[in-house]
Amino acid sequence: MRFNVAQLLLGPTGGVREYDLDDDISGLDPLIVPHSTLMGHVRFTHVGANVLVEGTAYADLELICVRCAEPFVERVSIDLVEEFEPSIDVLTGRVLPTTHEDPALVIDKHNMLDLSEVVRQNLLLAIEDHPHCREDCAGICPHCGRNLNTETCTCSDEPVDPRWAPLADLQAS
Ligand SMILES: [Zn+2]
Ligand SMILES: [Zn+2]
Repeated sequence: MRFNVAQLLLGPTGGVREYDLDDDISGLDPLIVPHSTLMGHVRFTHVGANVLVEGTAYADLELICVRCAEPFVERVSIDLVEEFEPSIDVLTGRVLPTTHEDPALVIDKHNMLDLSEVVRQNLLLAIEDHPHCREDCAGICPHCGRNLNTETCTCSDEPVDPRWAPLADLQAS
C-alpha cells in the first residue's frame, strides 16, 4: 500500500490521483486475520504542501465472537480521510520540518506515501463494531460451557436450590 506521490506533489495544488486497492494484508497485524485482500478505492489530492487521502476499503476478516468464542468471517469496511505531510521538499530534496505527531502520516524521503498504518488502525477500530457472529448468538452456557448455537443443555438458569447446596458442595469437593 505504498504510492509514489512525487508527480502529484510536483503538480499544481488541486491535482488528483486515484487508485484501486487490492492488497494482501496478511501480516499487517496479529489481530487482523484476512480471508480476502483489502479492496477499495482511494483518491489523493494535492492540498497545499500535503496530500489529502480519501477513500473506502473493505476486507473479509476472521473475527472471534465475544459471546460464543467461535471464529466467524465478516466483511469489515473502513473510511479513510487523512492528510499526509512530505518529509522533504520534492523539488530541492531539502528536509522539511513535519508537524504531524503521527509518523504514520509522514511521506518518506523517497516520496512514498504508505497507507498501511492508517489502514491497520482503522481496521482494528472497525473490528470492534463486529463483536458477534450473529445478532442472536446464544453464546456459551455458563454452567457447562456448551455452545448454545449448536448444542442444547439441560442446565437451568435457576439458581441452585439452597436445599441442595450442601450436596453440591460435597460433589465439588
Ligand atoms: Zn457467537
Ligand atoms: Zn449448560
